Amino acid sequence: MADSPAPLSPADDRAVAAAGRFTGFVDASPSPYHAAETAAAVLAGAGFTRVPAGAAMPGAGRHVLVSGGSVVAWSAPPVVRPGTTFRLVGAHTDSPNLRIKPQPDLQRAGLAQLGVEVYGGVLLNSWLDRDLGLSGRLAVAGRNGPELRLFRIDEPLLRVPQLAIHLDREVNDKGLVLNRQQHLAPLWATAGGPPSAFVPVVAGAAGVAPDDVLAWDAMLHPLEPSRIVGLHREFVAAPRIDNLLSCWAATEALATLGPDDAAITVMVLFDHEEVGSASAQGADGAFLGSVLERIWLAAGGDRAGYLRALAEGCCLSSDCAHATNPNYADRHEPEHRIALNGGPVLKVNANLRYATDAATAARWADACRRSGTPYQRFVNRTDLACGSTIGPLTAAQLGIPTVDVGAPQLAMHSARELCGVADVAALRDAIAAFLV
Ligand code: ZN
Repeated sequence: MADSPAPLSPADDRAVAAAGRFTGFVDASPSPYHAAETAAAVLAGAGFTRVPAGAAMPGAGRHVLVSGGSVVAWSAPPVVRPGTTFRLVGAHTDSPNLRIKPQPDLQRAGLAQLGVEVYGGVLLNSWLDRDLGLSGRLAVAGRNGPELRLFRIDEPLLRVPQLAIHLDREVNDKGLVLNRQQHLAPLWATAGGPPSAFVPVVAGAAGVAPDDVLAWDAMLHPLEPSRIVGLHREFVAAPRIDNLLSCWAATEALATLGPDDAAITVMVLFDHEEVGSASAQGADGAFLGSVLERIWLAAGGDRAGYLRALAEGCCLSSDCAHATNPNYADRHEPEHRIALNGGPVLKVNANLRYATDAATAARWADACRRSGTPYQRFVNRTDLACGSTIGPLTAAQLGIPTVDVGAPQLAMHSARELCGVADVAALRDAIAAFLV
């Protein structure tokens, strides 16, 4: 490889400032709906105009559209020409968590609890013995039909207590086994209150009458604030690093880009990645393609030009990567160790669980070189199943060449994850370079 950039420093002022803004983004975003609004607010502050999801699409200029927990933001030149292409960065707003059932109120053993479903690949043990809040959105009866209202309660309402060791003597040697139906219902009161306690609480948080609450997408979130940790303050401990780190980095990268006459520059943050992406707003559906085509047509292009602009374009799919866990080094590919604070990670998988190929990897390498960002190369042990992300889905849906990357982290899918301070700004810088 050509000139190698300087190693990253977690003490660098830019790195510390970026990590501070990132933790603010995480703490403002307990649910995918909040994450979408947080990203849109950052972009609005940078001059992007909010476009209602059902409105006629503007062509030129900088705009942002929110649909549920997904966001598309773009910067388009005044007109599209034969050489205009798409440059995309994609990430996902959702994280594995516990979600409230439709009839959640339970009273058992003298305690009031809420029934929950497991959303995505949760490390279930990480939700035990934590102070938990509630957030999400309510569908409420409005004057002109149902309306959606976001809500969040950052009070320690809920706990999922682990079984005492005296009643589970072999837990440390044989492992903790949690049944999703039996063992995860959080408690929040002594029994004896009204049989329906959930709706009045969330209605109060949203400022609506309980009788007007028609439905909800509600979930639990850990309340401990994000924190910079470690002997030399080198690490970020936070919930939802996967994948709000990429959402934050993509949002900041797009916000700082100047106008570009050669490309429509797009950021897409998808909901529902953790459950397979097949949804109205997910990466394995029509959402992104239909928004991009509407943007292209509004900028004066035709369908043939749109398809060509995708085929000639490029997409950076950013999602967190596994750093090598020193206590389980044998679970990682020995010749591809990934270090926290070692720079963002290029992800490769021969079976296309990641979309990266040589051509798109080269685009990433070029962006890192131009931004002075060191990067690491990840491949899974070939005897372990590899994870996946939105990259292969976006590539297949749109026919756009795509590369999968992301920041390294430990404890992926825990309620509280860990990443490197220096990797936060580095990911943002590499994304910004990829988009120009
Ligand atoms: Zn992810």
